[in-house]
Amino acid sequence: MDRRRFLTVLGATGGAAAAVSACGIGPEPTEHLVPYVIPPENQVPGVATYYATTCRECTAGCGLHAKVREGRVIKLEGNPDSPINQGRLCARGQAALQGLYNPDRVTDPMARTATGEWQKLTWDEAIGRLAAQVKAARGKGIVFVTGLETGSFGDLVDAWMRETGGRHVTYEPFAFEALREGNRLAFGTPAIPWYDFAAARYIVSFGADFMETWLSPVGYQNAFTHAHAFQTGRAAPPAKFVYVGPRLSLTGMSADEWIAPVPGSEGLLALAMAQVIVAGRRAPLPADAARLRGLLAAHAPEKVAAAVGIAASDITRLAREFAASQGGLAVAGGVAAQYPNGAEIVAAVDILNYVAGQVGKTVKFGPNHGLGQAGSFKQLGDLVADLSGGKVALLLVQGANPVHTLPGTFSQALGHVGFKVSFSPYWDETTAAADLVLPDLHPLEQWNDSRPRAGLYALQQPVMQPVFPNALAAGDVLLRAAGKAGTFKDYVQGRWHELHQRFGKGRDFEQFWNDALQHGGIYTDAATQTVRLGPRIEQLGAGVAGAPGAADKLPLVVFPSLALHDGRGANKPWLQELPDPVSKITWHAWVELHPETAAKWQLANGDILLLKSPHGAVRAPVWITPGIRPDVLAVPTGQGHKAYGRYAK
Ligand code: SF4
Repeated sequence: MDRRRFLTVLGATGGAAAAVSACGIGPEPTEHLVPYVIPPENQVPGVATYYATTCRECTAGCGLHAKVREGRVIKLEGNPDSPINQGRLCARGQAALQGLYNPDRVTDPMARTATGEWQKLTWDEAIGRLAAQVKAARGKGIVFVTGLETGSFGDLVDAWMRETGGRHVTYEPFAFEALREGNRLAFGTPAIPWYDFAAARYIVSFGADFMETWLSPVGYQNAFTHAHAFQTGRAAPPAKFVYVGPRLSLTGMSADEWIAPVPGSEGLLALAMAQVIVAGRRAPLPADAARLRGLLAAHAPEKVAAAVGIAASDITRLAREFAASQGGLAVAGGVAAQYPNGAEIVAAVDILNYVAGQVGKTVKFGPNHGLGQAGSFKQLGDLVADLSGGKVALLLVQGANPVHTLPGTFSQALGHVGFKVSFSPYWDETTAAADLVLPDLHPLEQWNDSRPRAGLYALQQPVMQPVFPNALAAGDVLLRAAGKAGTFKDYVQGRWHELHQRFGKGRDFEQFWNDALQHGGIYTDAATQTVRLGPRIEQLGAGVAGAPGAADKLPLVVFPSLALHDGRGANKPWLQELPDPVSKITWHAWVELHPETAAKWQLANGDILLLKSPHGAVRAPVWITPGIRPDVLAVPTGQGHKAYGRYAK
């Protein structure tokens, strides 16, 4: 380029820049680079540092490795030391970064004024107001709602509530209550066992979407791959996988065979399979299985085939294959447990595992999921009744967004609560309804621990300085409000001194603590426990069949979104733009419809449907797919936010 041409281009570029600037789209404002006069600990410019911590995007408790450059976490990967996820991570775990750096986080403590405006507070003012509200509400009803907290924070809340005369309610939208209740019916325990997919030779999932959101999806997906994938040199042929459910999820799409029974009849199918195994003596029966004789005789394949909508010969074939594999694993508690008879369906599936001799082999009670400690619908129902009845003077919420995830009765009941406090990093629906907002740190910025499975103690540590420096860990706020000395990290460490007594193996505490930090926690094996049939298992019969639905209405299956989960992923654009693996739809919900139903209703893809139930209404476009029964509609969870930031609304 000659000099004249160079100057011409330079002039044109300068003119264009001036024009853009005049339109108001100027260059980014000047920012100043700050040298590391006092660099963060363990940081060398240009060299990545890795920290082990725990994912809190769902209750599975997968181990994380956070890659940190120049004091900023830039990538998350699975921690290979964690027995839960063994180095793998799901999309929600990866996207936790966008929760951390989310532009719509709460940056300062805020209080609602008499005119409804938000007023910024200092932390001393905010904690003073919290302490004053607690003092005023003593004896008048204090309730602290948190997500599932199986470690130090949950213990701190329990202790604080005991001290103040309040109560702690644990609320998880996906708490698998039918699974817990079904296990109680079948075996007298509400514990959620560990399912050994890797050892299974024949897997039947009754609506349990273990590749997506069911219990511990990363761990189960990994184990399923071991059982089901073609691998050279494997000792046994790959396990067969049968999916039983009204619609094809990602898990269902991975199956070798899809069975779509009449919705709600899954328990009948499981009992009929159990009957074939027992009648044909196809597995060594536990001694107490004789108690099931009457129940199973009433559910022989020929007797239930019409109600299930599957030929008796197919039911018999499935049962024989299941027993012959000598490594059967039947799982339930997901979509198939949504019906009013969900617990009975789970109990029937438990019976199938039991008579096939698989309880204790592929179904292991003992290393139970921590989720078994989640609160119940009854506790929530009692809470809503107390809120509505004006029996709660102070409501505190942390790690949950019940205004979005519970029916409208919850938000209506909030109008009867004296004072509402939200500990949330985000302006979600519950925070928007609060009187005092105390911005919590993101899980990647704070200390905590959890017990995701019996025998596992997962540590959570701050992997970087807080993105918004005026946020404060809820644990520290509680300690300060209660006038206790020390930080929440001290509190966590105090509890780990107890673990040191048990698992120290001759190391001093500092060495023990550093080892745990490096590996993401302590991982021990919990012994497998024997379970026997529950005291009233013989009476299961009537409940398994369930009540028939109204003939003129289609059942609506609300399935958990792989990406958005219960809605907590909706503020992360990576998850919004991640195509659903089955429908390939992004950024919005949809209504799944079978082609026959669409033809009957003269609907095409993209037409907007209004779905109504006694609990609310949803408007969403139609997606027509043969992967659903003609007599069922399905919608994913996760969308429909009225707050929760720019990406969710
Ligand atoms: S399953 Fe995914 S979201 Fe849940 S803890 Fe594991 S990585 Fe996190």
